[in-house]
Amino acid sequence: MNDDPARTDEPGRRPRMAVHKFSSCDGCQLALLNAGDALLRLAERVELVHFAEAGPVDPEAAVDIALIEGSVSTAEDRARIVRIRAHSRFLVTLGACATAGGIQALRNFTDGDEWLSSVYARPEYISSLANVSPIRDHVHVDLELWGCPVSGHQVLTAIGSLLAGAPPAVPDESLCLECKRQQAVCVMVTRGAPCLGPVTRTGCGALCPRFGRDCYGCYGPAEHPNTQALGRRFAGLGLVDEAIARRFHFINSQAPVFLEAGQRRRGNHDD
Ligand code: SF4
Ligand code: SF4
Repeated sequence: MNDDPARTDEPGRRPRMAVHKFSSCDGCQLALLNAGDALLRLAERVELVHFAEAGPVDPEAAVDIALIEGSVSTAEDRARIVRIRAHSRFLVTLGACATAGGIQALRNFTDGDEWLSSVYARPEYISSLANVSPIRDHVHVDLELWGCPVSGHQVLTAIGSLLAGAPPAVPDESLCLECKRQQAVCVMVTRGAPCLGPVTRTGCGALCPRFGRDCYGCYGPAEHPNTQALGRRFAGLGLVDEAIARRFHFINSQAPVFLEAGQRRRGNHDD
């Protein structure tokens, strides 16, 4: 929390809120917009000063709550997040990109220049940092919300808590518990699918298992994730070390516990 309220605490004024985009696909902003009536009710309680996808544009405004979508992948991103932090009371990351790198962080495991040359006709026009990084690597983050995309309901609930002066409660139990509550059939037990649910936090409503798919870890690490045991289970299902590493190094690859789990597998130190 930035305890410099001087610019934002005039009496009678509604709390100000901004939504900023960094390197991302806009899906988390869409999840927020899709909240519909609940978002309209929030808009009656806060002054939405910057949310380019919804209308208002004032990226340099001092705010009480700044929501950040996307990760840092350019020098301009890096300078901008420092400026935003300086004029925001609470800074909240929205989703996998902002919280743990997102898909674009996959280039951290390869030769980014080679990718640039194979994708762009004139790669010399592209200027990016060597690695993609989550927001927490650059500034203090007050609250991290996970998911790809985030749950609009979870975002609005967390904002409601901040406005009420209460610490937001974000669930971090394993997805397996939600799977049981939803009475979904376990795809790992019944089909031998390499499901990341045992080490992934709930928040999606067990969407993939309910449709017969294994979890890809969109919501990031659960509390006390035993990635070594799950890696051994995946090996028992027939996955080679590189395939196991890629399961951990996916949407949330820069979450330290997933990063380390994948690196251990690539180093083959997990047996
Ligand atoms: S977390 Fe997923 S949905 Fe959200 S901006 Fe990143 S890629 Fe898009
Ligand atoms: S399907 Fe995945 S998340 Fe659901 S109980 Fe099985 S291992 Fe856990």
